[in-house]
Amino acid sequence: MNFTNKNPFIAGNWKMFKTIPEAVDMVQKLHEASVGMDGAQFVVIPPFTALSEVARALQESPIQIGAQNMHWEEQGAFTGEVAAPMLKDVGCTFVVLGHSERRQFFGETSETVNKKIKAAFAHGLVPIMCIGESLEERKNGNTITKVQTQITEGLEELDAEKICQIIFAYEPIWAIGTGLTATPDQAQEVHGFIRSSLAEKHGNTVASCAIILYGGSVKPENTYSLLKEKDINGALVGGASLKADSFAEIAREAIKAYEEK
Ligand code: PEP
Repeated sequence: MNFTNKNPFIAGNWKMFKTIPEAVDMVQKLHEASVGMDGAQFVVIPPFTALSEVARALQESPIQIGAQNMHWEEQGAFTGEVAAPMLKDVGCTFVVLGHSERRQFFGETSETVNKKIKAAFAHGLVPIMCIGESLEERKNGNTITKVQTQITEGLEELDAEKICQIIFAYEPIWAIGTGLTATPDQAQEVHGFIRSSLAEKHGNTVASCAIILYGGSVKPENTYSLLKEKDINGALVGGASLKADSFAEIAREAIKAYEEK
């Protein structure tokens, strides 16, 4: 399946929210709300426990499914972990890797993110790789250095053909779940940097096809102004993706912004 930055890409990370009935109810409503919104690529990222039933509920829908994390090994004695073939098996197309909450609370590093990206590709999953700076790093003027380091380490030993398929999510940590959003200018500055860094290191083709999402308190009211920016190709949405109507509204705003870019 091909994904493109010619249309907005809207992914909803549900984090540790929703039982199976709640998850199924949400995606049924989202499917109804998204009919006719062919201009957007939708992905829902439920907790592991709901993946199977969400996949069943979306069988006839273009809405795609992702997981929030995985282990890099194919199988083994890793209690509590989930492997790429299991995610494929349950109907996932995408997997989020290196979310800042995983880095902050569960010891995720760029080295493990790199191993997981390789494992995702080996099993036909599309990685959504999260990067972003803390408030302190931003205040100290280290945003670009931090993002550059995460990209370099996370992409180690991957060739241009693979890098082309990665979905990047720039998520300033200070904007996640806080209600604070990067201004369109702040976000564009980093997105522009990511694209030019990809061009410099991996070539213009990689840079021009890269899908670069913004994440951090995205809601219907700020989607249009963010998505109007040249290098912002979509959104990774947390809180506002939990309800079908706000998630669909974000997609509507994203389509409008794309049409007017
Ligand atoms: C996220 O979880 O990736 C996120 C961006 O969350 P929120 O939209 O709630 O800030």
